[in-house]
Amino acid sequence: MLLLKNGTYIDWQTLEFKRTDILVEEGTEGVISFFEPHMPVTQRIIDCTGKFITKSFANGHHHVYSALARGMPPPKKNPENFLEILQYIWWNLDKALDMEMIRANALVTAMACAKNGVTFVIDHHASPNAVSGSLETIVQAFDEVGVGHLLCYEISDRDGTEIARMGLTETTDYLAKRQGLVGLHASFTVGDETLTQAVRLAERTNSGIHIHVAEDKSDEEHCVAHYHQRVVGRLSELGALQFPKTILAHCLHLDDHERSLVEGSPAWVVQNMESNLNNSVGFFNSKGLGRRIMLGTDGMHSDMLRSARSAFLAGHNFDTIDYAETYRRFRNVHHYLYSNGFPGDGDNNLIVMDYDSPTPLTADNFLGHFIFGFGSQNISHVISRGKLILEDGKITGVDEAKVMEESRLQAKKLWRRMTI
Ligand SMILES: [Zn+2]
Repeated sequence: MLLLKNGTYIDWQTLEFKRTDILVEEGTEGVISFFEPHMPVTQRIIDCTGKFITKSFANGHHHVYSALARGMPPPKKNPENFLEILQYIWWNLDKALDMEMIRANALVTAMACAKNGVTFVIDHHASPNAVSGSLETIVQAFDEVGVGHLLCYEISDRDGTEIARMGLTETTDYLAKRQGLVGLHASFTVGDETLTQAVRLAERTNSGIHIHVAEDKSDEEHCVAHYHQRVVGRLSELGALQFPKTILAHCLHLDDHERSLVEGSPAWVVQNMESNLNNSVGFFNSKGLGRRIMLGTDGMHSDMLRSARSAFLAGHNFDTIDYAETYRRFRNVHHYLYSNGFPGDGDNNLIVMDYDSPTPLTADNFLGHFIFGFGSQNISHVISRGKLILEDGKITGVDEAKVMEESRLQAKKLWRRMTI
């Protein structure tokens, strides 16, 4: 057990401040208890004098597979639209991945998450030439660092029916052992048969679908041309929206009818502002989508505070969003996980912040500090399921320097392999 001594606890839901000692129990179902005069003294003590303690963060949509992309050589052709960005960059990269690279991707992503105060990640993975066992490789790496996960394999017909079938098999095998989702790439790369099989699998395993939706307008155009309806209509008709565990990433180009279908379903939406800016695909607008909106990074990085800030800043012109709504979306992922019964994101997931502000921080102005002040540089300790996974800014579960060295080797190997 850990004892966080003499810190200021900020309740993530009420924003109430409390000066207290906190006893943190280990385990998936572990709890925390606040100061009592006879707290046991046999536990590990962390001095939190002058520091703030609050619930750690979670990421609603991430891509482990893109971690080795940073600094890679440019593609031979400069992409001119979203489809070309996929073809010349991301599909070129994910096809070149092998299991060693996936492990390096997962280790550096989990470490980056821990350093950014993120203790739970909902990931969407693709490696078409290394499908079988890829999710278990990610689990092992995440477990070593101590970051919780809800994984899926991105099933798609883009590389032919055999690789689509392998994606379905990988998902079936994985869901037989662990909590997870049924991943699909996007409407424009998933035919009716694969989509139907994925929905049936989600039904059989009491899971949900995790899919990119109308990230670019080409997804809608393709759907209208091939299926004579829009993306959300198609997903709804084939049953993908019926699950409260379903996650629809992006949802940028929905018309009013699609928005009402999303709002009327139990599915959740994930906003990924910086990725949308990077791909020049448009701007998220929450209008008519309901309140089940959470935030993700879409593989751009692992910093959820940064994602929240960019959602707020870009939202000035393209969305209806204020400090409180930004914070609500930032924290909604915990409600998604809790309401669906996914374990591993309970009260014993905490960050300790060394936040020395030039202005007072109180319950009344917390949101102003959240938007403009807090940064990952303030996070000194991270506790995941009661275990200290970051201590004074250092990862405890793995040798950081060794992981980084290996990751650079794997990145060089990956870049050499990329052919387009
Ligand atoms: Zn994505």
